Amino acid sequence: MGVKILVVEDEEKLARFIELELRHEGYEVEKAFDGRAALDMAMANDYTLILLDIMLPGLNGLEVLRRLQMDKPTPVILLTARDAVMDKVSGLDAGAVDYITKPFAIEELLARIRVALKLHCKDASENDSNNVVNADNANSDINSNNTYSGGMSAGTAIDGAGATAGVGSTGINSNHVKRSVPGETYTWKALVLDVPRHKVTYNGKEIELTNREFLMLKTLLENMDIVLSRDTLLERVCGYEYVGETNVIDVYIRYLRTKIDEAYGVKMIQTVRGVGYVIKAN
Ligand code: CA
Repeated sequence: MGVKILVVEDEEKLARFIELELRHEGYEVEKAFDGRAALDMAMANDYTLILLDIMLPGLNGLEVLRRLQMDKPTPVILLTARDAVMDKVSGLDAGAVDYITKPFAIEELLARIRVALKLHCKDASENDSNNVVNADNANSDINSNNTYSGGMSAGTAIDGAGATAGVGSTGINSNHVKRSVPGETYTWKALVLDVPRHKVTYNGKEIELTNREFLMLKTLLENMDIVLSRDTLLERVCGYEYVGETNVIDVYIRYLRTKIDEAYGVKMIQTVRGVGYVIKAN
C-alpha cells in the first residue's frame, strides 16, 4: 500500500498547492476543507498521515486531533499560525507528531513528512527508501519559486521546538530515546528541564533558552551518558536531513555552555573529541 495523506486545510488554494506537491512526490492525497469532513474522512479511511490545519471552520484542528487520538490514532502533523505557541503545545500534548508554522517552504513540509513517515508510520517503511532518494531533489529546489507564502512574506519559518517533538530513532542509540510525554522532566545536578512547561531552571532560577537550545539540551539529557555525534544532534535539533554544516551544532553547544556552564560554574556538556558531545550523570 502506498502512502496516503489527508490534507485538511480550509484555504483551498493552499490545500491544492500542497496536494500537487505531495502527488509530485508520489504520495496519494485526499483533501478536506473543514474539521467535520476531516474527522469523517479520517474515521472512514486508513490514512498513513494527516496534515491538519488548526484554524478550521466547524471543528478546529485540535478538536479533530483529540477525537482522532481517542478513536483512531493516526500520525498528525499540525499546520499552525506563526505565533500560536499555545496551539503548538496543546497540539503536541494532544498527540501530534510534529507541527509546521505557516507560511512555510514546501521543501520543509516535505522533509517533515519524510521524517514523520520514517518515525511514526509503520506501513510506510517500504516507501521509505524511495522517499529518501527524493530528498536531494526536494532540497535542490529550495530556492526555486515553489515556496508558498500565502500572500504573506515568503520564507521558511523553521521552529526547532516542533522539529523533533516526537523524538525518534536516528541510528546510533535509538533504543535509549524516549518520547516526551506530558509531565516529563530531566534533571542534572541543580538543573531541571521541564518538558511540558518548556522551561529550564538551575537552582530554581529560570534560564532563557531558544527553541533549538532547549531541544539540544533535552536531547543530551534524555541520552544521558551516551555520546551523541554532531550528525545525530543535527537531525534531532533541526528535525530532518539538514543539508548544512554540522558545525551549527558547535554553535548551539557554545550558547548552552555560556548560559549554563559558565553562568553556574559547572561542566555539564562534555566534548568527546572526534565524536560528539555528552552529558554525564556523574
Ligand atoms: Ca485555516
